[in-house]
This record gives sequence, C-alpha cells and structure tokens, in this order.
Amino acid sequence: AQKADKNIIQKVMNEAYEKFKNDSRGKNADYIPYLAKVDSNLYGIAIVTPDGKVYELGDSKFEFGIESISKVFVLCLALESNTPEEIAQKVGVNATGFPFNSVTSIELQGKRAVNPLVNAGAMATNSLVKVQNGNSKWKTINDYFNRLAAREIKVIDELYHSEAETNQHNQAIAILLQSYNTIYDDPIMTCDLYTRQCSFGTSAKDLAIMAATLANNGVNPVTKDKIINPQNVTKTLAVMTTSGLYEDSGQWLYDIGLPAKSGVGGGIIAVAPGKMGICVFSPRVDQAGNSVKAIETIKYIAEKLQLNIFNPM
Ligand code: GLU
Repeated sequence: AQKADKNIIQKVMNEAYEKFKNDSRGKNADYIPYLAKVDSNLYGIAIVTPDGKVYELGDSKFEFGIESISKVFVLCLALESNTPEEIAQKVGVNATGFPFNSVTSIELQGKRAVNPLVNAGAMATNSLVKVQNGNSKWKTINDYFNRLAAREIKVIDELYHSEAETNQHNQAIAILLQSYNTIYDDPIMTCDLYTRQCSFGTSAKDLAIMAATLANNGVNPVTKDKIINPQNVTKTLAVMTTSGLYEDSGQWLYDIGLPAKSGVGGGIIAVAPGKMGICVFSPRVDQAGNSVKAIETIKYIAEKLQLNIFNPM
C-alpha cells in the first residue's frame, strides 16, 4: 500500500504540473522592486510526507523570498516563550477581513494587531520572541528556521535592501502599535527584524519540509528533530485556517479546505495534518497577493488526494 501511495503522489503532482504550467494569469508583485524582477515563469512543486520522503517537480530548488510565509514560523517560535492565551490577548487571533498591511483594522479591531499573519500582527509576534542561548534575536530566529528547513537558510541581501528601502508603511504600523502599547519590543528594530525574516531565500522544497513539520505534529520528518510543541502546532494551524490567504482566506477554505499560508514572493504552503506538507511556488499573484498557479496546483492535488480537512471520510 505504501508503494502505491507514493506513486499516486508523484502522479498527481505530474498531472497538476502539466495542467497548469502554461497558466499565465496574474503578475509578479511589484511594490517591492526585487520581486518584480523575478522570472515570472518559474514553477516548482514540493511535497513532504511524515516518513520524510520528498517529492519534487520543476523549479522546486529555486530560492525565492519567503515573505509572509515566515509569519507562520515566527508565530511557532513566539509560542515557545508565550502561552497561546498570551498570543491571543497581546496580538489577537481573529481574521481581519482587511488587506495584510491595513492600518484600519488596527484602529477598528481593538487597537492591536488582530492576528499574527497580517503585517501588524507579524511584527507584534516578532516582538514577543525571546532570545535563546544568549544569542541575538535575529540569530534565534535564523537558527529556528534552519532547524525547520533542515539546512542553513540565508537572507537574500538584494531582497532585504529592496524591502528595507521601501518599508515605511510597515514602520508606520509598528509605531502605531507602539502608541497603543501593543508592540512588545523596540518598534523600528522589530520592523527591521520582520523585514529580514521576510527576505529569507527559501525553495519550495525547504518550505514543504517546514509545512510537513506542522503536518507531522511538530517533528521535522527529515531530521526527526522535535521542533514545535504539538499544542502550538494546533494553535498555529487554526490561525492559518482563518487567515492564511489574505482577504481570500474564506474562499480558499471553501474551495480547498486546508490550513495554508501564502507570500507575495509567489509561494504557498498547505498543511494536510498527519498526511503531508505541500509548497508550490510561482511568482504571478492575483489581486489579493496569492500565487495563481500555486492555488490551482494545490487545489488539484488536494482534490485528487482527498486532503480536505472537512471531508469526514
Ligand atoms: N515583506 C512583505 C511586506 O511586509 C510581506 C508581504 C506578504 O508576503 O504578504 O509587505
């Protein structure tokens, strides 16, 4: 049975790739200059199962900006030193219904960040990370990402500089939170750390391993390293489920039924608990900021492999 399962995953992946490789809808995000220059035709798929098997296709090793997908894993890290209740109270865990960089949601929804997967909440969450082993906060974050990806992850310098020069809006959000006492470390430093975490260069393979760590109850299936406490996996998946795909999170859940997170760099991760972590990368994004090819690909794979969490069978 095991062998048949493996063949099916590879087969479904191949079918999806053939079906969507020429889909050219959407366009690269361009509000960060670096992202506009990435080759729009790149397309990579990776799936990792709890037994540590890695399935890959296309540009699955190309390193692209992790962007908002980083928010998921900084939340996991913040949950190491803050209880789920503290995150709910200090950051919030409700969907905003507003764009990812909205100031309005802060004003209307409690003078705090609202949830860890929008920019305000990602910065508030980052500000709650506690340094480990006497390291800097940045090294604490980088080490954690290395363990999750099972290799050394580096910032794409050109992307970091491109973002740092254009992140005034995020700085303003951090200062606004400061005015309400709902950011918990220096706001400008926190915004800079957030900008760096968004500039990590990760491949679809790396992110599928990271997603599979969530699917595997916090244990990295490749290294067997116990990274995320199972209780925190559950909380993180809940936030991904309500807020993973910007304003289209409801539509995504309705269509596909998996906890997920997208980034404007063109990546989307999806987690099928107990079954697999998936990452698809392709830079052309839609109005909300979600990769068009990645949505279609994951939708196809999730249907064929019956991954929808609301399907009771
Ligand atoms: N660094 C990007 C920003 O803060 C991330 C956005 C995203 O992927 O949603 O604007």
